[in-house]
Amino acid sequence: MRIFTEISLLRNYLFSQKQANKTLGLVATMGALHQGHLSLIFYSKKDNDLSIASIFVNPIQFDKSSDLEKYPKKTKEDLDKLEQAGCDIVFLPDAKQMYGKTPKVKMIFEGLDNTMEGEHREGHFSGVGVVVAKLFNIIQPTRAYFGQKDLQQFAVIRQMTEDLSFETEVISCPIVREKDGLAMSSRNLRLTEKEREVAPKFQKSLLLAQKTLKSGKTTNQTSEIVREFMEEISEFELEYFSVVDSQSLEAIEIPQVGQSIALCAAAFLGNVRLIDNIVFNFE
Ligand code: AMP
Repeated sequence: MRIFTEISLLRNYLFSQKQANKTLGLVATMGALHQGHLSLIFYSKKDNDLSIASIFVNPIQFDKSSDLEKYPKKTKEDLDKLEQAGCDIVFLPDAKQMYGKTPKVKMIFEGLDNTMEGEHREGHFSGVGVVVAKLFNIIQPTRAYFGQKDLQQFAVIRQMTEDLSFETEVISCPIVREKDGLAMSSRNLRLTEKEREVAPKFQKSLLLAQKTLKSGKTTNQTSEIVREFMEEISEFELEYFSVVDSQSLEAIEIPQVGQSIALCAAAFLGNVRLIDNIVFNFE
């Protein structure tokens, strides 16, 4: 596995691989890797000659410096996991290499970034857009793999890829969960034992919402039921619960038959912020 910390050396190497007509799959991460990240590497390996993972904790997508500072860093373990997964190349830049100074470019995603994560994390999607555009520009991957776990992030990246005519094909991959249903996340490492015990209830609240909507209740009624369910677990503080079209992210009050619905939520468990979602066809 080749490891690059410098953009220019990575570009040179990738240029030679492209000359040899190799296809390249990108998995962009912030490290502290788990099976969710590694599943993206496996999808990439299936489709491409070469797979590259980037590990970069992107400062400009954090709205709270405390969240950035507490973000887990496990570089040595990450490199071992990537090697074992058969990843070919790792891009491991530091903030100076990526940005020099803080970039002045900002991105807005009309209709996609003012709800849910965008509403609660100021500047988050601008930071995500800038870093992914930068990675696409440096690496020029044939395909890039993202987790459905960050559903709104994927919608934003898909829009950016189309609007800016990047040649990369962007692919959304299923959420990988722990046995008890908790969506894998680097942030789960920060949960206390007690918090980890109740954490699966978060997905349970989404499954309850799905059942409630299917029984004919409206979004408002369903939201109320989800809120009540979450309030009973004192460790949780629900930030939002939204019912949206899985592609356009437009809010849905009464689901229509055949619609692809996403149930999205964010909640604090102690001081760890979790997100999760379920996507299903309304029948
Ligand atoms: P992160 O390191 O959190 O920025 O995530 C890097 C990529 O891994 C993103 O595309 C995430 O959506 C994806 N990812 C994170 N957690 C999971 C998971 N549990 N299942 C599948 N993909 C995931």
